[in-house]
Amino acid sequence: MSQPSELAIFLTNDLTGISRGRAFPETDLKDRMRAGCGWVPANLALTPFGVIGANPFGPLGDLRLQPDADAEGFFLTGLNDGPDLKAFMCDIVETDGTPWGGCGRFFAKKALADLAREFGLTIKGSFEHEFFLLGDNDIGDAAFTLQDFRSQQPFLGALIAALKRAGVDPEMILREYGPKQFEVTMKPSVGLAVADRAVILREVTRDIARQFNQRACFAPIIDPASVGSGVHVHFSLETIDGKAVTHDAHGPGGISTMAGSFIAGVLKHMPALCALTAPSVISYLRLTPHRWSAGFNCFGYRNREAGIRICPVDDTPGRDVSKQVHLEFRASDATASPYMVLGALVRAGLEGLRAQMKTPPLIEGDPADLTAAELQKLNVRRLPESLPAALAELDADSVVSGWLPAPLRQGYHALKTAEMARTAALDPQAQCALYADYY
Ligand code: GLU
Ligand code: MG
Repeated sequence: MSQPSELAIFLTNDLTGISRGRAFPETDLKDRMRAGCGWVPANLALTPFGVIGANPFGPLGDLRLQPDADAEGFFLTGLNDGPDLKAFMCDIVETDGTPWGGCGRFFAKKALADLAREFGLTIKGSFEHEFFLLGDNDIGDAAFTLQDFRSQQPFLGALIAALKRAGVDPEMILREYGPKQFEVTMKPSVGLAVADRAVILREVTRDIARQFNQRACFAPIIDPASVGSGVHVHFSLETIDGKAVTHDAHGPGGISTMAGSFIAGVLKHMPALCALTAPSVISYLRLTPHRWSAGFNCFGYRNREAGIRICPVDDTPGRDVSKQVHLEFRASDATASPYMVLGALVRAGLEGLRAQMKTPPLIEGDPADLTAAELQKLNVRRLPESLPAALAELDADSVVSGWLPAPLRQGYHALKTAEMARTAALDPQAQCALYADYY
């Protein structure tokens, strides 16, 4: 039985995808919901490794972590008489309550608001997570086995219960392909909750694993020679009143004209988006062809090498597929902020919708097998092969860099510069080991 908490905590999930925050007596919660709690601009330049990169904010300025007025928060469940903790995902606001330009959650909120205002649309979706279960355990080498599942069932069961209690609708949990790798998926939600729930799922998973003396590691890769862990963003478009608009039986791949434009916008800007969705040095050890991650900015039907894949549906004759048809953005991992991922996806999709871009051609087979001429004809490119290359794509794509308010740009630049400096002298294996300690 868990114990009630004496504390509550306000959290931000920052540009490194790491949750940080401040706690206070639970008895003050009502007041804190209005007043928020203090925060510091320079924190935006924090690397995953705990060091603040050189940044323009310095010692100056004050901000607040502010939950939404109607937020209910979520529970981190204490096992074995451990305390629960009530937590709230927050926006970062100025001391007068106006949004701060360095807030990733506000970046996503604003993109969703524009999608709703301009096209009457929102995103329905969920982030699918893979992770490595590290620690003293007897997980074997073989994929998908019942034995490994059974050996970890107490943890996996407690995790599902804790996710339900945290308000996340878990869907599936499995022993994945990679060594010590598992996957956990959620049922879809709508709008900002899609990103909030991604943060909650990661934190609950880490929290429950820790209470089993294990570490749930969401690093994109822990061994350069082996399989990576992706964060695949499942999404579809629906109208504000909940009508599914992604499917059209007559469209290519069963995709509607509107969804096709959205996809075209995302693929066009995907090389630059990678800087935000796969933003760490080791993201690029994962983001290579033949890993079922994503090596190219292409569109595929049930194709796990494609940057955007049309996911399978239950198309047994008589079943309605219109509500099931959805897409999956695969070039993302847990070193990214889910808010930046969702916001960037929506912004890029909006570009496609505004320009009424045509649905991109569907790639059959492995894009890595196409010749340079074929790739060019299909307008498909290899995604950046390193973090510096992705950052150069971001700088070169004035549309994508133009979405980022100055504090986001500055904070991001500061932390990535420090992150690259910290890892520069390490070989890939040592880089993986370093990131594994923090994710
Ligand atoms: N582990 C793969 C990745 O890094 C994904 C495998 C799958 O399709 O689930 O994205
Ligand atoms: Mg998987």
